[in-house]
Amino acid sequence: MIRYHMINGELAPAAEASVHVTDLGLLRGYAIFDYLLTREGQPMFLDDYLSRLLRSAELLRLDLPFDRQELRRQVLQLVQANEMREGGIRFLVTGGPSPDGYTPAATPTVLILAHPMPRFDPQTYEQGTRLLLYEYRRDIPEVKTTNYIIGIYQLPRLQAAGASEVLYHDGRHIFETTRSNFFVVKKDGTIVTAEQGVLKGITRKNVLRLAQEEFPVELRPPAIDELHDAAEAFVTSTIKRVAPVVQVDDIVIGSGRPGPVAAHLREKLIAFEQQYIARAAPSS
Ligand SMILES: *Cc1c(COP(=O)(O)O)cnc(C)c1O
Repeated sequence: MIRYHMINGELAPAAEASVHVTDLGLLRGYAIFDYLLTREGQPMFLDDYLSRLLRSAELLRLDLPFDRQELRRQVLQLVQANEMREGGIRFLVTGGPSPDGYTPAATPTVLILAHPMPRFDPQTYEQGTRLLLYEYRRDIPEVKTTNYIIGIYQLPRLQAAGASEVLYHDGRHIFETTRSNFFVVKKDGTIVTAEQGVLKGITRKNVLRLAQEEFPVELRPPAIDELHDAAEAFVTSTIKRVAPVVQVDDIVIGSGRPGPVAAHLREKLIAFEQQYIARAAPSS
C-alpha cells in the first residue's frame, strides 16, 4: 500500500499530491520526469537516474530547488515511509503554477511519487513483441519530457495490430520507441543502437556495458533496411529490461522467434542487478 508521496521536499499523504490548474506542465507540456524501480528495498541504480533527472532539468532550464544529495535523501525517506520493497518511484518536475499561463514560475514543482510494482507480462520474453514504424522524432530527445502524445494517440492502432509500441524513424533510420531504446543484432553478432537523438536509457547503459564484454557494438541508428537481414532485435527499458522484438510492421525479424542474444543479455542484466542489491544492502 502506497500511503505517502513527496511534495516539494515534504512527505505528505498520497491523496494530497496534485498540481495546480495553472501549472505549466499541464497547460503547456513544460515538465520532465524520471522513473526507477525499487527491488528488495533498494532504489535501483539511483545515482544514474538522478544524473539523468538533473541533466533533463538543466537542459530545460528548470531550476531545481534540491541538489543530488537532497533528492537521494528524499527518495530514501519515501521508500522507508511506504515500507516499499518492490515498487516504482516517479520524479515529476513541472514548470509550476504560472500567473500568466506561460512564463515559468521561479521555482518548479517537484513531486516524487511512489507506485506499486508495475506489471510486465513475462510471456513477452517467450513470444516476443511486435512494433509499428512511425515517422517522428521527439522534441529535445535527450530530455525525458512528460510528452507521450504520439504513443498514447497510436494505442488503438497498436492494439488492433497486436503491437506493443511505435518505433520512431526519420524515413531511413530508426531511433527509439515511445518508451524504450531499440537494438538490432546483426547476423555476425554485432549489436547496433543509436547514440545521438535518443533518450539514453539507464537500462540501455547497463545492457551496453554488459554487451561490450562479449559482442562488437556499433553506436549508430540502425537503418530500416537492416531489419530485413537482422538476426534479432530487442528493446530495453526499466520495466521491460530486455524484451525481444520479433516483427516490425510486416518485417519478420530473424527466425520470427525471440533470439538467444536478447535472452542472454536479460540474464546478465538480472545478475548485474543482484550484484547491485548485494553491494547496496547493509552487511548483516
Ligand atoms: C524512459 C525512456 C526510455 C527508457 O529508459 P530507461 O532508463 O531504460 O527506463 C527510453 N526512451 C524513452 C523515450 C523514454 O522516455
